[in-house]
Amino acid sequence: MDKDKVLAFVTVHGSTNSHTAILARMMNIPALIGVPMDPEKITNGTMAVVDGFAGEVIFNPDETESSRARKRIREEQEKAELLRQLKNKETVTKSGRKVHLYANIGNVGDLGYVLENDAEGIGLFRSEFLYLGRDNFPTEEEQFTAYKQVLQTMGNKKVIIRTMDIGADKKVDYFHLAPEENPALGYRAIRICLTQPEIFRTQLRALFRASCYGNLAIMYPMITSVEEVQKIYKIVDAVKKELAAEDIPYGNPEQGIMIETPAAAVISDELAQQVDFFSIGTNDLTQYTLAVDRQNDKLDAFCNTHHPAILRLIRLVTENAHKYGKWAGICGELGADLTLTEEFVKMGLDELSVSPSMILKVRDRIRNLD
Ligand code: PEP
Ligand code: MG
Repeated sequence: MDKDKVLAFVTVHGSTNSHTAILARMMNIPALIGVPMDPEKITNGTMAVVDGFAGEVIFNPDETESSRARKRIREEQEKAELLRQLKNKETVTKSGRKVHLYANIGNVGDLGYVLENDAEGIGLFRSEFLYLGRDNFPTEEEQFTAYKQVLQTMGNKKVIIRTMDIGADKKVDYFHLAPEENPALGYRAIRICLTQPEIFRTQLRALFRASCYGNLAIMYPMITSVEEVQKIYKIVDAVKKELAAEDIPYGNPEQGIMIETPAAAVISDELAQQVDFFSIGTNDLTQYTLAVDRQNDKLDAFCNTHHPAILRLIRLVTENAHKYGKWAGICGELGADLTLTEEFVKMGLDELSVSPSMILKVRDRIRNLD
């Protein structure tokens, strides 16, 4: 779909942490999911009001409903205008504590949202979107061009690119992944990369080559053990040797991991000694810690994102990072939860990476903290 023409999503199935919802948040458009309706009965050209705040959709609104919606849109535009005054301001508390406020993106095309909302860097580039919606693997050259463009656009600001997280809810035909009973617990992300290193090597070559053009950090998803990190480094070393032998220049990007499995959180003291940084993926960390499938709309009532187990794990991971002089951030959706911002700052998190539409709201919240 042409993203510029999509004003809202209303879906029958889905859950708040599904990638559909995350994409809608990135585009700053209202999205209602799990709406009981019969799409067959809605004909093309039907007018509808979608209120993402109230979680309400009205088909064929009457004049009162339409004018109420127009008034709400104007109010929101005024609020957004006020927030725009925070562009080019620092993300710092009143007492001077600085937090790096970065944006999450899925495509080169999302860079416009990043610049428009004055993100201080990119904290999560979901590179798997380069693999989705096509018939075969993106070549090294295609990937290199995309990464280079993001890095050059961001200048000296940090750009954290996550290696591809295919699998689970992000299926691609040409990967020929076998059907699985429990795909979220299945063959995905780094597990594919470590067992099919030829796919991984192509992406790493593109990343290391692109790292000459800006401030790149590479991040590995779905880590559960120190051994996985060591296996990654072996492949990285081989890739660097290969590039050197071919006289192809490459940089020296930071390398970090996502903390999105309870295993990684619990052994974060050991992992901190292996990597340059941690970025906590609260979407998956929540699903795995609470045993709540993030795709299952029937479980929304059981998905307490503020569960003390999650908050304790975030604190533990941050403390363990700092113990070894590393930095820790959050790139899952919880990073943009304004009711937790104060707690995150108190825990000592160094970075929050949120959807571009949330950047100025989080900055506002942080600037109002003592
Ligand atoms: C996460 O799990 O929190 C995360 C940021 O990764 P994704 O949502 O793409 O799985
Ligand atoms: Mg994840």
